Amino acid sequence: EAKSDGRGVFRFFEPSMGACLRNRRQLEHDIRHAIMRDELSVAYQPQADLQSSQVFGFEALLRWNHATRGHIPPAEFIPMAEECGAILQIGEWVLRTACAEAVRWERPLAIAVNVSVMQLHSGNLPELVDEILRETGLEPSRLELEITESTLIKDVGRALEALGKLKALGVRIAMDDFGTGYSSLTNLRAFPFDKIKVDRSFIRSVHTNEEAAAIMRAVFGLARGLRLPVLAEGVETEGELSFLRQEGCDAMQGYFLAHPAPIAEFEQYTSQTGIAATHQKHELHLLR
Ligand code: C2E
Ligand code: MG
Ligand code: MG
Ligand code: MG
Repeated sequence: EAKSDGRGVFRFFEPSMGACLRNRRQLEHDIRHAIMRDELSVAYQPQADLQSSQVFGFEALLRWNHATRGHIPPAEFIPMAEECGAILQIGEWVLRTACAEAVRWERPLAIAVNVSVMQLHSGNLPELVDEILRETGLEPSRLELEITESTLIKDVGRALEALGKLKALGVRIAMDDFGTGYSSLTNLRAFPFDKIKVDRSFIRSVHTNEEAAAIMRAVFGLARGLRLPVLAEGVETEGELSFLRQEGCDAMQGYFLAHPAPIAEFEQYTSQTGIAATHQKHELHLLR
């Protein structure tokens, strides 16, 4: 390890950096074993239609409860899992777990699963999805794969081929985090998306900030032109919700309706009987 000799040369490797790297290597090791150790779980967050005020599906969100470090957020471990390749195994686990969960529901709601670009480029994602659909018996039209747009552009040809095969299976594709990538507009035309999920940074304060409102109206205009439905991510307030509804946004997801949680907490949506007798305060707001 290179250290300062006291005269200020070659001080590019601090002891704290060594600790950080060891830490990271340890975590990369742990993530490979997380499935075996039963540390992964899936949280579900409902998605609602703004016309009918009905919950039509859930997004599956991966959770890692590390044996000694406790809960580690996906924003931390997903990029790491992508770098060390573990995302392929983990992504397969999420797909299988979420599809198996969805077939247990009494109502045939949609299930949205995030897919990393590494999975898309792996060469066998369409085959894997086909296998999981057969294995679980999930109707392909109930599955939606969410792809973060900024990650698509690395290998357009390969991504297009995989997406084409997935669409042929009857699976739907959503562009996730719309607006945060580098070439949103090009990607929208080039890729066969079925839905646009607008990133929550665009939803924030949309009802109080004229610039934010103008940007969202432009997004709605664009989506209408392309005949793509829009789901607003990260809706937290009633003000944001009424703006979105007024502007003709198709669907929403966010803390205002519900935080991601174990599926057992959403029986009012997944069961046939629960729907009529809902006492959810947020659903009452939505129903107005
Ligand atoms: P995403 O796919 O855009 O998921 C939405 C994120 O926003 C989730 O964070 C969710 O908990 C959070 N969220 C939902 N409603 C609200 C809200 O009203 N306000 C705020 N502030 N946040 C809200 P989470 O679960 O921490 O996941 C972060 C990201 O990690 C996801 O963003 C997705 O890109 C990635 N991710 C999660 N699970 C998976 C997975 O199974 N596979 C892959 N490849 N990526 C995943
Ligand atoms: Mg997502
Ligand atoms: Mg994302
Ligand atoms: Mg998103």
